[in-house]
Amino acid sequence: MSRAASKAAFELAQTLIPGGVNSPARAFGGVGGHPSYIRRGEGAYLYDIDGNQLIDYVGSWGPHIVGHRHPAVIAAIQSALETGTSFGAPTEIETELARMVVDAVPSIEKVRMVNSGTEATMSAIRVARGFTGRSLIVKFAGCYHGHVDSLLVQAGSGALTHGHPSSPGVPEGCTADTIVLEYNDIDQLTALFETRGKELAAIILEPVVGNMGLVIPKEGFLQACRDLCTKSGTVLIFDEVMTGFRLAYGGAQERFGITPDMTTLGKIIGGGLPVGAYGGRSDIMAVVSPAGPVYQAGTLSGNPLAMASGIATLQQLKDAALYQRLETVTRRLVDGLVSAAKEAGIPAVGPRCGSMFTLFFQAGPVNNLTDAKRSDTTRFSKFFHALLEAGVYLPCSQFEACFVSAAHSDADIDATIAAAKSAFGKLA
Ligand SMILES: *Cc1c(COP(=O)(O)O)cnc(C)c1O
Repeated sequence: MSRAASKAAFELAQTLIPGGVNSPARAFGGVGGHPSYIRRGEGAYLYDIDGNQLIDYVGSWGPHIVGHRHPAVIAAIQSALETGTSFGAPTEIETELARMVVDAVPSIEKVRMVNSGTEATMSAIRVARGFTGRSLIVKFAGCYHGHVDSLLVQAGSGALTHGHPSSPGVPEGCTADTIVLEYNDIDQLTALFETRGKELAAIILEPVVGNMGLVIPKEGFLQACRDLCTKSGTVLIFDEVMTGFRLAYGGAQERFGITPDMTTLGKIIGGGLPVGAYGGRSDIMAVVSPAGPVYQAGTLSGNPLAMASGIATLQQLKDAALYQRLETVTRRLVDGLVSAAKEAGIPAVGPRCGSMFTLFFQAGPVNNLTDAKRSDTTRFSKFFHALLEAGVYLPCSQFEACFVSAAHSDADIDATIAAAKSAFGKLA
């Protein structure tokens, strides 16, 4: 496979854009080499500028659950375009998408649209703090909630001490009110709530984690978060930017039957256009400006093209059979990958939830970031490049989730398993 045009495009981009990319996850930093430059997407496929067809398991990092250029989504965007791109005044389709979100996710009684997942989590935290009058928040190591200052944080020296910035440019003061705990550790969380529960404004977490590779909540973990928050008046925020409309129409909270106080959404809700949203209990959302005193705003929030794209995408998802098929197809894929690795004598585990999964190169189990980090990333890099060479496009890091879309055919899955088998043969 030639990738010469992509290589040249990346070299040019690096002279003008920091690291050549507009978001670091695209730069192939974790696997080496240069990214593929994409010319177009169609269904389950990407086509790069060298003319290669790739089976896509990234789906723009989550949004494309119905595949690229779904006809209904494209038609909705085209039709919105006919009336204008932005007005800075309310439109009825904002209410229409709000209605769809409220109907899909019962814990959301009121919802505010923003332009990215980062904006959604940043705003949700401000609202939780404004509502409770408290400052401290809890996040879990390995959960990613966008590049919000107070969430770019790593654990302090002791489990219950305050976090430190994980990026230069974030002052200590921004992370001083964030406590970082290990995911899936109920004892640690309980100990924190026993001593400081009444100071905690919010817990924010990915109810199923996609951002350290796929990590599934242990039995009882989400319920423990719920119970501790209820007892201490802390706001439980499920960051469902990735899992919302992905793991079920009602997200991870529907799948696991746990009701958060607030939810953040993004990715699928924009159907490939820039949208985020945060919402929750009406008494909490009542503090949001102009209904209440907590300020949050956006020139392009509720943008008509983005709303049209989101609505058309969600309409496609009001279909239990679609989720059922995603489940079946993804299970077959992951089973195929894991057993192919096993046959080749390569230690690998494949945690899966709905149409998200990660193939971790290690014996497992993977319950938190410490576990995830035990993976053989050198082996992952080789596997990644072997699959790319065979026309299969995986996320370019061991610590990301793969996404299957409704456009992936049985033949795509077979081709992917076959490519993996041949790759494992060379890696063993
Ligand atoms: C992608 C993601 C975000 C950030 O969304 P952006 O649109 O990239 O700002 C936040 N939380 C989770 C769980 C995500 O997966």
